[in-house]
Amino acid sequence: MPELPEVETVARQLDRRMRGARLRDITVLDRKLSTDVLEATGGRIVRIYRSGKQVVFELGFGRAAPRFLVVHLRMTGRLVWTDQKGSYDSEGMMTNDGFDASTKSLRAKLRFDRGELFFFDTRRFGTLTHHSNVSDFAPRGVEPLSADFTTEQLHAMLRRAKQGVKAFFMRQDRIVGVGNIYASEILFRAGVSPKRSCHTLKRAEIEKLYAALRKVLSDAIAHSGTTFSDYRDSHGKSGSYQFRLAVYDRQDETCRKCRQAKIRRIVQQQRSTYFCPTCQR
Ligand SMILES: [Zn+2]
Repeated sequence: MPELPEVETVARQLDRRMRGARLRDITVLDRKLSTDVLEATGGRIVRIYRSGKQVVFELGFGRAAPRFLVVHLRMTGRLVWTDQKGSYDSEGMMTNDGFDASTKSLRAKLRFDRGELFFFDTRRFGTLTHHSNVSDFAPRGVEPLSADFTTEQLHAMLRRAKQGVKAFFMRQDRIVGVGNIYASEILFRAGVSPKRSCHTLKRAEIEKLYAALRKVLSDAIAHSGTTFSDYRDSHGKSGSYQFRLAVYDRQDETCRKCRQAKIRRIVQQQRSTYFCPTCQR
């Protein structure tokens, strides 16, 4: 499942290609999707940005209020933009051999004046919704990279949390955008064991966690996120952060920091957690 850096990458790539385009019509092919989205027809793309793990298409209607189309990709959602210059999957990678728009996984098709956007989703857990107000789709958790988010805030949140530190970082109602991959990476960078409970964390450790959270996510964005073949087809690979992962998916490999211990894998809440038993305490 894409986490914050992958969704940020999708939004930036689409913004570059689609900004200014006018939405001519929408074809909804999946009955699971609401036809409310048709209300965005006629709008012009003002900008495309990320909010939590959602891709937001802000559409302008002249003097009338803007409207928003919001996509949550979840497990297998994928956006493909195609125009005269070619076809691009949601990570900005050109799909050289094209794609099959007749496939059953196509859930919606948005036709613009200068191209088309396809929403594919094999498992159909993704969503495409229409909103008139930003507050209707704003995530409950805080944006970890926003200027308003401080160490103090993280400190206060961790004080109140009654759970393991890894589970805390994956809670979308607290901090948005961190999933299983980046949670392991953040704990490693901060030197904090995933077995720790939030209430045992010391001030200095919380400061390290705060710095690690921001650093890991912004580095991943700089590398266009992490892409694994199990969530995107081979033509869609363009992120490169998977080559920089320090612990995730590195079971039994040597730790890159201490160069002695082997990375261990444990299962927490049915998900794999990777860590270095020497570097993380
Ligand atoms: Zn180590």
